[in-house]
Amino acid sequence: MSASEYTLQCNFHKCRVKLSGFAWVTACSHIFCDRHGSVEFSRTPAICPACSSVLSGKLDVLRTELVPSEQYKSMVLVGLPPETILDISHKAMTFWTYQVNQERLLMEFNLSRAGGQVVQMEKFLTQQNQSRELELNALKEEVGSLKKRLEEYKQKYREVLDRLNERNRQYQKLQGLFESNQMHTLGTSEKETMSHPFTTGLVKQHSLHNSPSFLGQEGNRFFSLGPEIANTFFQFNSPARDGTHPFIKKN
Ligand SMILES: [Zn+2]
Ligand SMILES: [Zn+2]
Repeated sequence: MSASEYTLQCNFHKCRVKLSGFAWVTACSHIFCDRHGSVEFSRTPAICPACSSVLSGKLDVLRTELVPSEQYKSMVLVGLPPETILDISHKAMTFWTYQVNQERLLMEFNLSRAGGQVVQMEKFLTQQNQSRELELNALKEEVGSLKKRLEEYKQKYREVLDRLNERNRQYQKLQGLFESNQMHTLGTSEKETMSHPFTTGLVKQHSLHNSPSFLGQEGNRFFSLGPEIANTFFQFNSPARDGTHPFIKKN
C-alpha cells in the first residue's frame, strides 16, 4: 500500500472511522472526524480528546478539507518563499508520519494482545482437552470393567440356567418314573381282582427290570437301586405268591 492509498482514522478512541471530506487537526498532532471535532472543539477551552492537551491558541485547532480543490491547491502556498513552502510541507509530512506510526504501534499492540489471547486460549483448550481425555479414559475403563462384569454375570446365569434345566430334567424323569410306578401298582391291583394271578405277577417282574425308555440313565440308576425294594413291594402285594399256593394246592 502506497502512502497516498493510506487513509488516516479519527483519533477518538471509540470512533476510529476512516477520514474523508472535512477533518479537525490539532497542534498536538491529532486528527478527528468532522462529527467528533465539531462536538469536542465547540467547548472552551478546547481539550484534545486523544491526549488531553489544552488547545487555547488561535491556530491550535483547524478544520481542513482533506481533498482540496485544484484551485485551492494552486493558491494556498503561492507567493511564499521556497524555505517556507518546504517548512510547511515538512511540518505536514511530520504530522502524517506521526499518525501512521501511531497507527502502526496501535496495530502492533492489538496484534500482540490478540496473540497473547490466542496463546491463553490454546493453553486453556489444551488443558480442557487433557482433562476430557482423562475423563474419557476413565469412562472407557469403567465401561470395560462393566462389560467384564456383565460377561461374568451372563456366564453365571448360563451356569445357573444349565443347572436348573438339569434339575428340571431330573425332576421330570422322577415324576415320570413315579407316575409309571403308580400306574403299574394300580394296574396290578386291578388285575389282582381279575382271574389271572400268574400273568399279573410276570408282567410286574418284566416291567420292573425294563425301565421306560424315556427315563434313560437316570431311570436305570433308580432301578439299579430299586429292584430289591420293588420286588419286596410287589411280592408283598402280588397275588401270585399269595394266590398261587392255594390255587395250586387246589389243583
Ligand atoms: Zn470520529
Ligand atoms: Zn492531542
